Amino acid sequence: MLKIRISSPRLQASTTRPASRVAIIGGGYTGAIIAKLLVERGFREIDEVTVFEPRDQLGCGLAYDAQNIDVRLNVAAHRMRAIPGAPTAFLDWLQTSGTLTVDPQAITPEGIFARRRDFGRFMQAQLAPFLDSGAIRHVRQAVRTVDRQNEQWRITGSSGDTILADILILATGHPPASRPAALDRLNPLTAARVSDVFAPNAFNGIGNSDPILIVGSGLTAIDALSRLNAIGHNGNVTLLSRTGLIPRPHAGGGFSPFGDFRSTELASARKLLAKVRATIADAQAQGIPWQSVFDALRQHAQELWQGLPTGERQKFLRRLRRFYDVHRYRMPPQGAAILELGLDTGRVRVERGDLTSIAQDGQSLLAAIETRNGSTEVRCRRILLATGPESRSYAIHQRFLLGMHRDGLIQSDPFGLGLACDTVGRTLTVTGAPNTSLFIAGPPARPALGELTGVPEIAAQAANMVDRIICCCARETRTIVISPSV
Ligand SMILES: Cc1cc2nc3c(=O)[nH]c(=O)nc-3n(C[C@H](O)[C@H](O)[C@H](O)COP(=O)(O)OP(=O)(O)OC[C@H]3O[C@@H](n4cnc5c(N)ncnc54)[C@H](O)[C@@H]3O)c2cc1C
Repeated sequence: MLKIRISSPRLQASTTRPASRVAIIGGGYTGAIIAKLLVERGFREIDEVTVFEPRDQLGCGLAYDAQNIDVRLNVAAHRMRAIPGAPTAFLDWLQTSGTLTVDPQAITPEGIFARRRDFGRFMQAQLAPFLDSGAIRHVRQAVRTVDRQNEQWRITGSSGDTILADILILATGHPPASRPAALDRLNPLTAARVSDVFAPNAFNGIGNSDPILIVGSGLTAIDALSRLNAIGHNGNVTLLSRTGLIPRPHAGGGFSPFGDFRSTELASARKLLAKVRATIADAQAQGIPWQSVFDALRQHAQELWQGLPTGERQKFLRRLRRFYDVHRYRMPPQGAAILELGLDTGRVRVERGDLTSIAQDGQSLLAAIETRNGSTEVRCRRILLATGPESRSYAIHQRFLLGMHRDGLIQSDPFGLGLACDTVGRTLTVTGAPNTSLFIAGPPARPALGELTGVPEIAAQAANMVDRIICCCARETRTIVISPSV
């Protein structure tokens, strides 16, 4: 018997251009892992993979481009399942690359908590062979415009380079931090003493004993504390946030996730909360830390989110999210030790309230804060913004996104988490139909999946998306079977 495979007429006809060119906007962890998987899994179907990313390296993005050595991953290395199909790849690399030898402080009783920039180096090593071979092309430009022309995407970068693509993936990650209204009308002198912690010179010129106000009390604020500690700062630090909640520490002891959250009955925020409380009580009765319950909850968080009706999702975001976040996004042990020492000695304090204004008073800044019990003031020399990304206006936070939004290609989601899409990441048109050539990857796709911030969840979404794209691009083939006559 003889089998002959013939490519479809559609693809035979397209001799002037490759059949499937994929462009990715954003080359942080998300864009990089998608590019790698497209090349590895789709070498037959995908002809070009181009990543627009203004940073020098792919795979780092906002989180892992830290030149600074004092900020660490919030997750133990064995849980950073960054490479689909190779869950221990990062842990193995830490050992074989000698990184743990030069950074023995990464090893703690709670696990290995490596430096964030080392994760960036790991991702660079993953991408290097594909960049060297030309299988992935890195265009070091920010995208300025995206248009739809003749069923193709036309993408133009900041230097005017334009490429055409059949499939476009938006992996633009975290939007800038939200800015309290009190910062809107500062005079230039005052404004110069207020910096976003991600700004390159945010910590320059801070004196050792300068009192500091950090706006925000989440993981970014803990990073800021670690960086202050590293530059020898020993002055007072106030962490200010509306909730006054701070991230919880990790547990030692290597416990496995505890609890089963798969039940379809957990379709309301109230039932979910009751189930979490009951499971924590069960765990504690058996000497298992509450962290294990949140680890189990995280494993099922996407299913749970999808099972919640819209009103219940909104209730969760309004009432429970802040508590979920501080238990789910835990601080690395090294940061926890710095915070604990600061709180114990009274050098660090946490204030609950709203920043309402900032005034200059001689060499100091006076920050006015509205609290539950009235108002108070914090005197400081510098203000560091660690408020976390503002996702509510994601669809309009960049010029090219605004253009796509105006053209009806992308839409904001009703929860203010990112962009409207389905669980594979396909964008939804105004009619709710999925667009099979325009995808959203990573954190801005949270509206569909709920939990999509950490590396393991992004890796899983990337793998699903790539498989879907490859499946759609697969050359249609006909198999003719010629049987010998009998
Ligand atoms: C400070 C911080 C620490 C974190 N730590 C951890 C951790 O320890 N463990 C964990 O699992 N998760 C962590 N996360 C969660 C994080 O969401 C993911 O791990 C992951 O980094 C998200 O990557 P991303 O590529 O989607 O986004 P980003 O890292 O934000 O990258 C987006 C990229 O898109 C590029 N871009 C944006 N606009 C354009 C444009 N117009 N044209 C071209 N390029 C563009 C940007 O330059 C950027 O490099 C952390 C997040 C932050 C912010």
